[in-house]
Amino acid sequence: MEQRIDRIKKQLHSQSYKLTPQREATVRVLLENEKDHLSAEDVYLLVKEKAPEIGLATVYRTLELLNELEVVDKINFGDGVSRYDLRKEGADHFHHHLVCIECGSVDEIQEDLLGDVEKVVESNWNFKIKDHRLTFHGVCHRCLEQEEKDEEHTSKETNEA
Ligand SMILES: [Zn+2]
Ligand SMILES: [Zn+2]
Ligand SMILES: [Zn+2]
Repeated sequence: MEQRIDRIKKQLHSQSYKLTPQREATVRVLLENEKDHLSAEDVYLLVKEKAPEIGLATVYRTLELLNELEVVDKINFGDGVSRYDLRKEGADHFHHHLVCIECGSVDEIQEDLLGDVEKVVESNWNFKIKDHRLTFHGVCHRCLEQEEKDEEHTSKETNEA
């Protein structure tokens, strides 16, 4: 955690920005909740626990700055809410997402599965790919397992009746 904060600090410095205590509190919240996809409001509520004097506008500006510096990516899963997602260190492209249409959970695929697709796009459209967004919408393994259990249960009841 401290090492990553240090690297983010350097990243800011290289663009002539300082990691002020308020910015640092925001970065810490993002790191502590790396698995989640927090909205500006979510981040604000968590930062407020560490730095009660901070305002939503400051958190929002910090998130926008981190987005500009490519420390975070802004993503929208179709519910109209912008969420902030830390970029994985050393990853050239943004990771993929699996959004469950039943429970709303968001899982991540860290491995870039688009290598072959990128080659086709680059050669057929003479287009240099810098990044991409890939979100799959479907039913997650937890919901599928639950459905299976429910079905077993129902068929048992039917058999017993
Ligand atoms: Zn993500
Ligand atoms: Zn890629
Ligand atoms: Zn689900």
